Amino acid sequence: MTPPTVGVLGLQGGVAEHVRLLESLGAGTRLVKRPEDLTGLDALVLPGGESSTIDRLTRLFGLREPLLEAIGSGLPVLGTCAGLILLAAEIEDPAPGQRSLGVLDVAVARNAFGSQVASAEATLAWGGEEADAVRAAFIRAPAVTRVGHGVEVLARHEERVVAVRSGSTLGISFHPELTGEPSVHAELLGMVG
Ligand code: GLN
Repeated sequence: MTPPTVGVLGLQGGVAEHVRLLESLGAGTRLVKRPEDLTGLDALVLPGGESSTIDRLTRLFGLREPLLEAIGSGLPVLGTCAGLILLAAEIEDPAPGQRSLGVLDVAVARNAFGSQVASAEATLAWGGEEADAVRAAFIRAPAVTRVGHGVEVLARHEERVVAVRSGSTLGISFHPELTGEPSVHAELLGMVG
């Protein structure tokens, strides 16, 4: 079986850590910087960084519509931190002019756990009763403040929702790629095919 090829949006933010983690799980990777980089992908990661900058760059590089098309056609996607903000239907406190893709029916509040100095690691219970422990890093992390119909809550931190799934779209507030936590990326790879 040929390994899946996972695109990592490579415009800004923590790109290399996702590439490393995906490759450690046996996936091939490709940086996505232009629309044609989306062709033939099996899954996609939208990394953390600064969501308003990533938003601006996706529009500047002509990637907004191609991303909407790819995700709309069912490409499995994982958005982490700023990537979750990019996926969300609603941003409570956007930067001036900031837009999101609006493909995941949640509202998010940016920087909901405080500033950079409030960055923290935590172990989360992931996915219901027999929950797996997921090691997570929170860096200026958003929280999910509204969960739409058909959106499943996968994890909470300090009583706020920090991981959701809707169909083949996964959105998480935190950075598993910084703690070397493989399970979320493994779940993305499990959605392929
Ligand atoms: N607070 C950042 C934003 O609004 C996200 C931080 C992150 O991705 N680590 O984009």
